[in-house]
Amino acid sequence: MTRIPSLFDRKSFCVLPIIHAFVKPDGRAGLCCMNGSERIGNTNDNTFQEIYSSNNTSLRTIREKMILNEELPESCQKICGKDDLYAHNSYRVESNKIFRKQFVEEFETLDQIINNEKYFYVDIRFSNLCNLRCIYCKPQESTRVAEIKKMHFSLLTSTGNDSNLLDFMQANLDHLVEINFAGGEPTIMKEHYDVLDMLIASNRVKDIKVRYNTNLQSLSLGKRNVIDYWKQFPKLHLAVSLDDIGERCEFTRDGSDWKELIENIKTVKQQVPHAFLTLNPVVTMFNIMYMPEIIEYYTTETKLFNLKDLWLMPVSGEETHCINVKALPADIKQQVVEHYKETGAIEISQLKSLLDDMMSKDWSDLLPDTRVFIRDIEQTRGKNFLKTYPELATIMDV
Ligand code: SF4
Repeated sequence: MTRIPSLFDRKSFCVLPIIHAFVKPDGRAGLCCMNGSERIGNTNDNTFQEIYSSNNTSLRTIREKMILNEELPESCQKICGKDDLYAHNSYRVESNKIFRKQFVEEFETLDQIINNEKYFYVDIRFSNLCNLRCIYCKPQESTRVAEIKKMHFSLLTSTGNDSNLLDFMQANLDHLVEINFAGGEPTIMKEHYDVLDMLIASNRVKDIKVRYNTNLQSLSLGKRNVIDYWKQFPKLHLAVSLDDIGERCEFTRDGSDWKELIENIKTVKQQVPHAFLTLNPVVTMFNIMYMPEIIEYYTTETKLFNLKDLWLMPVSGEETHCINVKALPADIKQQVVEHYKETGAIEISQLKSLLDDMMSKDWSDLLPDTRVFIRDIEQTRGKNFLKTYPELATIMDV
């Protein structure tokens, strides 16, 4: 008989498809935020409870494959096949570590695991409502990107059509230990405040870790001020999406006001001192050269973040491969390496991993796509790429 703790020794095992609910802004339900391809339903067609029921054959099949056949789904292999990236554990390894204790306490048999309907960790993206139009975001992730791309849609939601979000949350309140808010931008979403109100009314605020992926550009919605809410949640983690400094930051995170954003970070640090803040830059070919200065600025100069709380995220998605660091020409890659050596940044393990990743593949045949990508930014957003990034002139072939 399989002992439950021994599941954690298997490379084919991930707790998330068992104890985690993940839904995209347009209602597509999957296994986790890293796995964009696996589908187990859509909240615009079924309720949350139907999708996360043990009767959902798509969900059951994945669990059975993992537990009984000892196989990680192929889509997961692509993401978590390696156990680390940029000197951090893979999401599978990290999630198994975080939820192991509760998992082992909760389950006694494999059958219970396969049929589980109790969710400890919820990451439901209510909509794509956003105040920014970051250059690497898809229309499905930001209403403002959808608008400038002139899509046939703007606002997408996962919580319409009687999907019964609050019923699902209520049903899981007793065992919920972690909730992640992302979007779009959660601080401007009504549903986010409704869920916080429910958690406060349940008296479980002290037990639940509340996590955000936020651009911190806005701290309120109407009369609801998010600072007032955050003061009540002792286990609060804000992963702040902040790619660069000043004008370059406003270029990639189009629509943002960098100075206002810095003031908002200071407000949070002052008024919610228990909040755990991590710096989460999305790494592209645009900011890789500046990363030593970016880190110096946010950690040593302003002390807004701690160096150990840096989480570099490679730009993800096939349509952004052309701005991935691997697509840089060889001579610029070499300049980046030299710069990291000169500044001593190469000693920072995450930056060393970033360089290794950059050098691991040559995607420079994508540079024609890079130019199209940049021209599109210039046309749709009225930006001047070479004014902001003169040192990258060679990639524009001028
Ligand atoms: S194995 Fe990786 S991709 Fe698959 S559900 Fe777990 S964390 Fe997500």
